Amino acid sequence: MKALGGVKGFHDIVPPESERFTALEDRLRGVLRSYNYDEIRVPIAERTELFARSLGETTDIVEKEMYTFDDRDGTSLTLRPEGTASVVRAAIAAGLAQRERVAKLYYTGPMFRRERPQRGRSRQFHQIGAELIGRDDAMADAETVVLFADCLTAAGVSTAHIVLNSLGDAACRPAYRAALTAYGEAHVAELCANCRQRLTRNPLRLLDCKEEGCRRVMADAPRVTDHLCDACRAHFDEVKRLLAAADIAFSEDPRLVRGLDYYVRTAFEALAPNLGAQNAVGGGGRYDGLVEALGGPPLAGVGFALGVERLLLAGEASTVDTSPQVSVIPLAAAATLAALQMARRLRLAGVRTELESSGRSVKSAMRRADKLGARFAILVGDDELAAGRATVRDLRAQRDHRLVLAIDAAGAALMDGLHAIAASAPPVGAGGAAGG
Ligand SMILES: [Zn+2]
Ligand SMILES: [Zn+2]
Repeated sequence: MKALGGVKGFHDIVPPESERFTALEDRLRGVLRSYNYDEIRVPIAERTELFARSLGETTDIVEKEMYTFDDRDGTSLTLRPEGTASVVRAAIAAGLAQRERVAKLYYTGPMFRRERPQRGRSRQFHQIGAELIGRDDAMADAETVVLFADCLTAAGVSTAHIVLNSLGDAACRPAYRAALTAYGEAHVAELCANCRQRLTRNPLRLLDCKEEGCRRVMADAPRVTDHLCDACRAHFDEVKRLLAAADIAFSEDPRLVRGLDYYVRTAFEALAPNLGAQNAVGGGGRYDGLVEALGGPPLAGVGFALGVERLLLAGEASTVDTSPQVSVIPLAAAATLAALQMARRLRLAGVRTELESSGRSVKSAMRRADKLGARFAILVGDDELAAGRATVRDLRAQRDHRLVLAIDAAGAALMDGLHAIAASAPPVGAGGAAGG
């Protein structure tokens, strides 16, 4: 029968990639916990209205990229294209977003956008993100960017560069929007068809158009940072002062707008030079007003998301050792039960253990143990059963230790024995390892 293919842009993550994936998530969880964030798990489907209300009706994501479908009762549902809207909705529902209280939440999981699949971008992709709800001070922005930088370091993406901008707020953005619209109208002939539409509906989006002609025009466009009100200016200056004091390297990019309507004031992004044109590995910003727009109290918020696939692509090549530490090999049918029990005790002691099938030759069993990357092979044959002790082969030192482990020893004692053998082995590459 013909094999069934998967869906375009939806990928399986198989070993050893899946192990690298999990290891990266684990490292980032560790960083987030050290900043006192708690995990929140939100569903992958939401009412479509949630994203239309938060991301903005005229954003590319809402207009073109969402997986939207009608449930059987006619409710319009959407597979989440990002995490912030869901987290804010859930925090409001659970009473976590309240005055006089700060919520620090992180999430991880798949997101869905119907983009053109390309290297490091698929339609189902994974993000890990953090949201700090209930703080409007510049220190909160700075601490969030420091956390973002620490996540990049933990992900092995030391070459990533952080860019920063301020998008202003409800007080100063309307005047900037008007200035940008006037500038765009003066250059309308040079803009792409998309940008001509954006001009009236969402002029900020002109700034992140990838078309060469638009980029050329927008290089001389009015800068948002020249239109900030005094409060936004002071806030941005303080964020930059704190980041510089914290030794976070960053540069300013007045064209960084992040493509979502909910951002105000601070916006930031991390760019990895080895990822080509679509080189952002993550980003975030402040979203004061979003909690209220979704029916919660008037609380500020700031957060970010990192793309797990993008981080893995941009990160220094890292491998996760998934080989078993021990391979237990029953050499005789009578040894099967003893080997099964021995393997189980090792596993209960946390040792990654492979159990071979019985009745193979020593040679083929050893070859397999070697291929699996096991450090030790434990052999249990008739002689070993009679003596009550197993033979251990140190596969790195290539030598046998005859009858050294009590077959019925507890897992911890077995492990102690293996450690003792490892300690007695000559260092790798020291020569003279052919003994035994
Ligand atoms: Zn354009
Ligand atoms: Zn302002």
